[in-house]
Amino acid sequence: MKVNILDLKGQYKVIRSDVNKAIKKIIDSQEFVLGKELQLLEEEIAQYCNTKYAVGVASGTDALVVSLMALGIKPGDEVITTPFTFFASAEAVSLVGATPVFVDIDPKTYTIDPALIASKITKRTKAIIPVHLYGQCCDMDPIIAIAKKHNLKIVEDCAQSIGAAYKGKKSGSMGDLGGLSFYPSKNLGAYGDAGMVVTNDKQLFETLKILRVHGSRGGYLHLMIGINSRLDNIQAAVLRVKLKHIDSWLEARREKARFYNDHLKGLPITVPYVPSYNVHTYHQYVIRPNANLEAFMSFLIKSGIETRTYYPVPLHLQECYRSLKYKKGDLSESEKASLETCAIPVYPELNKKEMNYIVEKIREFYGK
Ligand SMILES: *Cc1c(COP(=O)(O)O)cnc(C)c1O
Repeated sequence: MKVNILDLKGQYKVIRSDVNKAIKKIIDSQEFVLGKELQLLEEEIAQYCNTKYAVGVASGTDALVVSLMALGIKPGDEVITTPFTFFASAEAVSLVGATPVFVDIDPKTYTIDPALIASKITKRTKAIIPVHLYGQCCDMDPIIAIAKKHNLKIVEDCAQSIGAAYKGKKSGSMGDLGGLSFYPSKNLGAYGDAGMVVTNDKQLFETLKILRVHGSRGGYLHLMIGINSRLDNIQAAVLRVKLKHIDSWLEARREKARFYNDHLKGLPITVPYVPSYNVHTYHQYVIRPNANLEAFMSFLIKSGIETRTYYPVPLHLQECYRSLKYKKGDLSESEKASLETCAIPVYPELNKKEMNYIVEKIREFYGK
């Protein structure tokens, strides 16, 4: 049997006629950039994330970049984030000329450890980017308290966490700004690159709308240096079709996670830890096999089950950040997680047969 880490074809089958119709409507209208469709999507996403405003941009990376630009983050500033994330969380900081400062993770949730943040704050620190990794929110209350105390802004990286909740609050609604990604493999994926910023702050909302069109409100008059970063109407149309299904898809992911949790019991595997205040959305179901990771992963891959480590090299040890002078051992929990964890397939369309097969093969690896 062959089971990929993600297979979007099954999802397309279910929504094919709606998606095709929606795309055709945009092509017929020939309105491709900044039109009605995007405006409707922005309203729907803002409502879904329980925020007042949303601004569509070209990618999740851009969502973080324009967020930092809107906050006025600039060269010489420092922004605190986690090294155990996709590169873009820190790249966005570097792209506005600021310096990412990495804080280690809590080894149970794999998200930034709030207890370690305070010691990394300097006079230059301007913001924190908590990354809601794998679809589960960071422990936000202590992060918000630290930000208040030190007058720091918060940009939530919600690329993996649309629909997740922390103490009843939706991911993206707790910081000053939240950056979403609609990269095709994300829990709400477009048919190309796309992203969005959500916020409750009217001033930031107005600034973001200007920033994404070259710092202009129109008329070839430029108020600030912006960029060209829009979410196009074809992508917006696809996303509007898919948004109607998001809650049932997220519930299906949780159901797969429960199945794994039950069926991996008794094995020396650490399954995802979910604090009682969190609603997880399982963008990834990440396990710690407590065995030789390479042997574990190659056994699964030989059995036809695709598995991956997200992420194999923590950002403080990336070549491009050598100038920041981190060394091995500096952020040990992130380093350990990068060597000891892997994701197994968890997408909504996985069927019982595939899931049984995955569990059976994992048990076989341990001889159980
Ligand atoms: C995917 C991702 C991004 C970037 O999103 P893109 O749409 O690919 O630019 C940023 N942060 C995290 C944590 C991600 O997983």
